[in-house]
Parts: sequence; structure tokens; C-alpha cells
Amino acid sequence: MNSPQKVAIVTGAASGIGKSVAERYAQEGVAVVLSDVNQELGTQAAEQIRQAGGQATFVLADVSRPTDCEQMVAFVLEHHGRLDYACNNAGIGGEQNHTADLSIEGWQQILAINLSGIFYCMKYQIPAMLKSDGGAIVNMASILGQVGFAGAAGYVAAKHGVVGLTQAAALEYAPQGIRINAVGPGFISTPMIHELEENPELNSALVALHPIGRLGRSEEVAELVIWLSSEKASFVTGAYYPVDGGYLAR
Ligand code: NAP
Repeated sequence: MNSPQKVAIVTGAASGIGKSVAERYAQEGVAVVLSDVNQELGTQAAEQIRQAGGQATFVLADVSRPTDCEQMVAFVLEHHGRLDYACNNAGIGGEQNHTADLSIEGWQQILAINLSGIFYCMKYQIPAMLKSDGGAIVNMASILGQVGFAGAAGYVAAKHGVVGLTQAAALEYAPQGIRINAVGPGFISTPMIHELEENPELNSALVALHPIGRLGRSEEVAELVIWLSSEKASFVTGAYYPVDGGYLAR
């Protein structure tokens, strides 16, 4: 992954896990295009990478809008002429309610961003990668792509969908040199869960779900994404890799 010509897209790159992934791609010498709905933080994140000596640009895109995803990939091709890696990471926690109380709008919003968003991104990334002789895609699932969690039916359904979508696409494009995998973080200390962390009782309960005895860090997820993107993972596709402090082993 040392060629300066390699190019990556990271969605949801203004914050948390996506920001760490973008930073790690840049450290590997990859030109990274950060994408997010948060223009201010996304622009800042790209600037920080450039100040650290990396190559980075920001493009505004809402992954729940197919045209934004198409334009995001067109931007990458226009500015870099190729696409080698994508980390489809943008996501939200969404409405927390038991199934019968979950609003229709809450269900539709979480499916639109956390599941359809990944489909829209891949729909436009895959043809771009085929033009660059293949590539690697890492989709951000969750431990909740493998097991349930009360009060998060929409999130759980979307993340299970991400794992299935990853497997189907991996089968389709393996012969053409595109590897597609999913990552399943446990609870990671990012702005997405800061509200939960600020409640001492809830925080202790969350920590207790992770045998390692703490929540994860964004950098620990980024490390797995970088490995899955790299040639070191050349025989890995259609897989789901947890990075969860032992959460799923309980
Ligand atoms: P985060 O810190 O909130 O970062 C997510 C970023 O995505 C934010 O900048 C957010 O912008 C952006 N975003 C939201 N909706 C978007 C959209 N429609 N299009 C483009 N960007 C959008 O969250 P994180 O914890 O890093 O989460 C990243 C991914 O990891 C998500 O897919 C999440 O489900 C997954 N994950 C997280 C955890 C965890 O415990 N943190 C665990 C398992 C999986 P705004 O802040 O402006 O909304």
C-alpha cells in the first residue's frame, strides 16, 4: 500500500472511526478523499491530514442520497483518476425504542443511512475500481450485525443487512479482483456513544459487555480496516471481522 498513486474514499470521515481510518490510509501513503455530511469537521480533518504530510481532500456527501454517492465517486475519478480502496463507514445510532414504538420515520432513516447508504456507495465505487484493476472495500458493520440488542431494532437490522450485502457483493466481484469485507466493532469511544459514556451506570454496564474490560478506540478499528485493505489480506473476501474486546465471544 506504499504507492502514492493509490486512492481511498472514507465516508463519515469527519469524526470517530472514519476520521481514524482516513488518517491511517494517509499514513500508508494513500491519497484519501474524506466524505461526510459535516462539512466543517470534514474539512478540518482533511486539513489535519495535510498538515501531517498526507494527501487529503474533503467532499460533502450524504450517503442516503444516491446522487451524492455518484458525485462523490465522480469527484475522486476527476481529481485522482482512479479508486483503489473504500471504507463505507458513515452511520448513525438512530432512534432508540422497542420495535412496536419505533417510528416509521426512525426505521426509514436508519435503513437509509446505515444500509442503503452502503449499497449506493458500492454501486458507484465498484465500476470505478474495475477501471483501476480491482481494489478493496471495507464496510462498517457492528457487533450488532451478528447479534440483537434491545431498543435498537433498526440499527440491528441495518447492520445485519450490511453483512449480507457485503457477502453477496464479495461473491460477485471476487473474480474481478475486488475484495469486499465487513468489520464489526464493539462499543467504541466516539461522539456516537459519548452520551451513553457520560452516564456512569450505563458506561459501567457497557464496559462489562467487553471481556477486555474497557470500550474500544477508533484507532483499533482503523488498524483492522487498513489490514483488510492491504495486500496482506489478499486471500480475504466476503468475511466479517469483529474488533470487539471479546463481546461476541461471551
Ligand atoms: P461518529 O463519531 O458519529 O461519526 C460518524 C460520522 O458520520 C459523523 O461525522 C456523522 O456526521 C457522519 N454521518 C452521519 N450521517 C451521515 C450521512 N447520511 N452521510 C454521510 N455522513 C454521515 O460515529 P462512529 O462511532 O465513528 O461511527 C462510525 C461507524 O461505525 C458507523 O457506521 C457506526 O454504526 C459504526 N459503529 C460504531 C460503534 C461505536 O460504538 N462507536 C460500534 C459499532 C459500529 P454527524 O455527526 O454530523 O451526524
